[in-house]
Amino acid sequence: MRILVVEDEARVASFLKRGLEAESFAVDVAGDGQDGLHLATVHEYDLILLDVMLPKLDGFEVLSKLRARENVTPVIMLTARGELSDRVRGLDLGADDYLAKPFAFAELLARVRALLRRGVDRATPTVSVGSLALDPMSRTVTAGDAKIEFTPKEFTLLEYLMRNEGTVLTRTMISEHCWDINFDTYTNLIDVFVNHLRKKLQPHGLDGMIKTVRGVGYVLKNT
Ligand code: CA
Repeated sequence: MRILVVEDEARVASFLKRGLEAESFAVDVAGDGQDGLHLATVHEYDLILLDVMLPKLDGFEVLSKLRARENVTPVIMLTARGELSDRVRGLDLGADDYLAKPFAFAELLARVRALLRRGVDRATPTVSVGSLALDPMSRTVTAGDAKIEFTPKEFTLLEYLMRNEGTVLTRTMISEHCWDINFDTYTNLIDVFVNHLRKKLQPHGLDGMIKTVRGVGYVLKNT
C-alpha cells in the first residue's frame, strides 16, 4: 500500500512518514501543493493525506484538480482549521474524510485503514470511449441515451477492451484477464465473444470500434 503525504510542515510530514512506514506502508512526501499534485498525477497511490494550508497550491486546489482529472484516489484532508465550512468544502470537492489537527496518530491510522478497506470494495469509475459508456458500479453500458444489455462475460470483455482503448490486446492477455486461465486451445471462444459484442454494438453504429489485429488479437478504438 502506497501513501502520498502532502504536508509543508517538515515535522508533521516526517512524523506521518515514520508512523506509516512503521505500519508497513510505502510513503512519499510532497512539501507543497504543486509537488503533491505532480506526484499524485504521475504515480498511483492507494491513499493521499492532504494538508489544506500549503504553499503554491492549497489542499482544496490540489483536490479539485485531481478530481477534475478523474483521479479517484481516496483523500483524507488534514487541517488545523476544524471549521465546518472547511470540512464541507473539502468533502464537496471530493475528499473522502477529514481530520483536524492536532490529531492522534492512532486516529489517523484507523481512518486510513477504514478508507483503504472501503477502497477495495469500491468499484472503478465509469469508462467511456466516444459515445459508449460503461459503468462497473451499476453494470450498465450505454451508447448515447440507449442502454445495451450484455452478459456478465461480455461485459468483462468489453470493459477490458475499453479500459485499454488504443492498445492491442493479445488473445493470451484477453483470456488471462477475462477467463482467469490461459486456454490457448480455446482462443476461438474470444472471437465468438467479440462477435457478440460487435453484434450488440452494431445497431448503434459502434461495431467498428473493435478492430481485429490479424494473428494477434483485438484493439478498441474510437471511430
Ligand atoms: Ca500546512
